[in-house]
Amino acid sequence: MHTMQPRKQAITAACSGELWKGKARALRLQIWTRDLRREKEMEKIASFTIDHTRLLPGLYVSRRDAHGDVCVTTFDLRVTAPNREPVMDVPAIHTIEHLGATYLRNSAVKDDVVYFGPMGCRTGFYLVMFGKLESAEVLDTVLSMCDFILAFEGEIPGARPEECGNYLDQNLPMAKYYTEKYRRALVEHRRLTYPA
Ligand SMILES: [Zn+2]
Repeated sequence: MHTMQPRKQAITAACSGELWKGKARALRLQIWTRDLRREKEMEKIASFTIDHTRLLPGLYVSRRDAHGDVCVTTFDLRVTAPNREPVMDVPAIHTIEHLGATYLRNSAVKDDVVYFGPMGCRTGFYLVMFGKLESAEVLDTVLSMCDFILAFEGEIPGARPEECGNYLDQNLPMAKYYTEKYRRALVEHRRLTYPA
């Protein structure tokens, strides 16, 4: 009896240790499922709510953001019909990014340009501008940017190893192909608002 007592205590201690481990596991699981629930409740990003299966090439206002007195407008330069047309190839996108940014940052509206860059889905580009703007107000700038790309010959600006993260990944002829197609869509159809 006396010899069993410490053993019994040890077993009890081990069991309560197990019990605590079990409780900790349950708690971790509880926290994890709670976080997962919260994640589900997270606000859906506005651009994800646009029905991409009905979207066609155009120049759309993706969103407007204000911080204090500063307002910025993000434009959706949709080049290909999402999920119905082949997406653009990466080197062409890269060339449009370099040439587009070069044009915009040297244009009459250069001080209003915040950013120009590709969408991860490879169906278009984002142009971010200071100001509460409408698509019609930047249409001429975008068309001129297309003209600049279409007329461009020679070395792509900013495409040297010390200037770019993947400097050989360029395709000027394909950049012109997509730009020509996009420009034609803008002129012919003038889609400036998202489908209702
Ligand atoms: Zn680059």
